[in-house]
This record gives sequence, structure tokens and C-alpha cells, in this order.
Amino acid sequence: MGCCLWAEVCARGSVEYAVGMEYTEIHGRQVSRVGLGTWAIGGSEWGTVTDTEAIATCIGAVERGINLIDTAPIYGHGRAEEIVGRAMRELGSREAFYIATKAGLNWELTPGDPGCYADSRPERLRMELEESLRRLQTDFIDLYQVHWPDTTVPVEETAGVLAEFVQAGKVGAVGVSNYNVGQMETFARVMPLATNQPPYNLFEREIDAETLPWCREHGVAVLTYSSLCRSLLGGRLRVDTEFAEGDVRREDPKFQQPRYGQYLAAVERLKELARERYGKTVIELAARWVLDRPGVSVALWGAKRPEQLDAVAGVVGWKLDAAAMAEIDRIVAECVTDPVGPEYLTPAVR
Ligand code: NAP
Repeated sequence: MGCCLWAEVCARGSVEYAVGMEYTEIHGRQVSRVGLGTWAIGGSEWGTVTDTEAIATCIGAVERGINLIDTAPIYGHGRAEEIVGRAMRELGSREAFYIATKAGLNWELTPGDPGCYADSRPERLRMELEESLRRLQTDFIDLYQVHWPDTTVPVEETAGVLAEFVQAGKVGAVGVSNYNVGQMETFARVMPLATNQPPYNLFEREIDAETLPWCREHGVAVLTYSSLCRSLLGGRLRVDTEFAEGDVRREDPKFQQPRYGQYLAAVERLKELARERYGKTVIELAARWVLDRPGVSVALWGAKRPEQLDAVAGVVGWKLDAAAMAEIDRIVAECVTDPVGPEYLTPAVR
């Protein structure tokens, strides 16, 4: 999983990359260390996103040297995957994207219930794979991840079904998301695990204890989600920022007062640190923090407009020093006296 910096034009397939971007390797493939997250592009849980904006965001990612695109059937109940498929068609290149999609969440609940539940029954996974291939307009998925562990299905059985997909030539590598160490160990006994996708950002570090060290030791690439703490670390939120009906941040305990004020106070001090020490913005500092943590391969970056990816250029090609890392820890500890994790995202049990 060595990393490299490509600061000059390089051509791959029919798509040109002409930016400074750091790359790493997943299962023998070069992928950008910043990956586009497409949950928001689904259009249902982060406010409205038009098709035009969503497709432009995917194409804009490629123009900025990003080739890893993380998506899932649950994002907009199929819409995000369709958008990725349409963006590839507009680009005229399947090779433009390293597609990381997922399976194992079912949203067929009672009418009017917006929730979802983990569902890794073999027949469900087989059906989801075919549906994803159809929406993405491709016959091959580069990385197929189990979205959440389904505690009602043996992990070995799930791993066996994914192995089937690789043998059939429909999937290149397999990964998991939100699995704990025990679940990953069981999975990896049946099928080599290329990646794990947990939540991770400078406010949410639960994986430091076990998950990250285990992945490092076992050569499992880590793709972090919520790298920007679901926009808190973007630097534009204020105490009176309002979120649209249905926006996940309305439910997120971090965005509820008085706790929200603590996180915003930390962001203000992080802004100062970023500016004074590095001449950077807080979003650049926050994403760099994730990339500089030992064991992290890729930081996923959620965006719904191409301009939101402009800041990526300010993230690559530099590093945080130990003193800045320690100062970040001090700021977070002093400001956030009532921290909370991302557990509210956990889906229901079937
Ligand atoms: P995130 O990346 O932590 O935050 C995304 C939000 O940050 C954007 O929606 C935007 O907020 C804000 N932002 C982006 N660029 C910005 C900029 N230049 N300036 C200011 N603010 C900016 O969000 P996330 O969705 O939690 O994580 C990213 C991806 O990880 C998802 O898209 C998805 O692919 C993946 N994910 C996976 C799981 C899983 O269970 N495996 C769970 C969650 C997410 P506004 O919308 O307010 O502009």
C-alpha cells in the first residue's frame, strides 16, 4: 500500500489526469488517496441534488485526479449508482473510475419508514450485485464491500458469496464496512479482505483502539468515511445553519445543542491553527489529518457540486507534523467536553 505523488500529466486509458494527487494501491490497482463519496449525490438525505450537478461532480472528481468513487445501492435507493454509470458514459470511459460499491442494506420497510436494515442473505447479495451492475452500466465492479455486518447471517457465509462473485469475474476485490476485528478475522479466513471502510475523522476516532492497528498489521486498506465529520469540518457551518427536511444532520447528535456549539468552537480554533501554522483552511487540515494517520489508505470526501472538490488540491503534497497533531488533540479535548460518536448511523437488525 505504498503512496506516491503524481504532479504531472499522466494518461490512463482515454482519461487524462493533470493534477497533484496522491495515489495508493488497492489489490494491485492505483487509486487516489482522496475518494469521492456519493451518498449526498443520492439526493435524498443531504438535500436536493439535480442530475446535472451530480454528474458534474463525478466528472469534476476525475478532472481533479480522483479515480476512486465510493457508492452504494442505498444512496438514493439506486440513484447514486445510476449517476456514476451516467458519468462514466459521458466521459466515455469505464476506466475513469475505480468503482467501490456495496451490498447488504435493505430499505424495503413499511411504507413511509425511511430507515434500513442490514441484510446479507446470500440471495439478497446475489440480487444486489446484478442490480448494481445494471445501474452502473458495467460488467465489472472493482471493489465490492459489505455495507454493514448482518448479525443474523454467519460471516463465513457472506464471505463465501463474495468469493463467488470474484470467481465469476464480476468483482475485482472485496471489502467490508463497519465490521469489527472479530468479524474481519472470520471473513478473512474464507476470503482475502482488500479493504475496510469505517468512520474516521479528527472528532471520531473509535477505530484507533483496535480496527486501524489490525488493518495495518494484516495489509487491509482502510477507506475512511465521514472524513469531514459530515460537513462539521468543512468550515462553513454556523450556529444558525439550517438543514433541509430529511437531511441526516437533523438527526445527528453532534448537530444538536449544546453539543453542536462545542464542536463549532473546536472548528474555530482548528481554523486558526490551520491558517497560522500552514496557511491552510480547516477542511484541508482535517482531510490531511486523516491521510496522515498510519494505516489509512483513502479519505472519502462527500460532495454534491464539483466546486466542493476544489479544496482537495490543498490537501495533497504536505504533511502535518507531530506538534500540530498534538495541538489538534488538545483543541478537541478542551472544546468537546461531551463527545459523541457516529453510532446513530447504525441500521436496524433484520
Ligand atoms: P463527509 O465527507 O464527512 O462530509 C460531506 C459534507 O461535507 C458535504 O456534504 C458538504 O456539506 C461538506 N463539504 C464537502 N466539501 C466541502 C467544501 N469544499 N467546503 C465546505 N464543506 C464541504 O460526509 P459522509 O457522507 O459522512 O462521508 C463521505 C462518504 O463516505 C459518503 O458519501 C459515502 O460514500 C461514504 N459513507 C459510507 C458509510 C458506510 O457506512 N460505509 C457511511 C457514511 C458515509 P454540505 O452538503 O452541507 O455542503
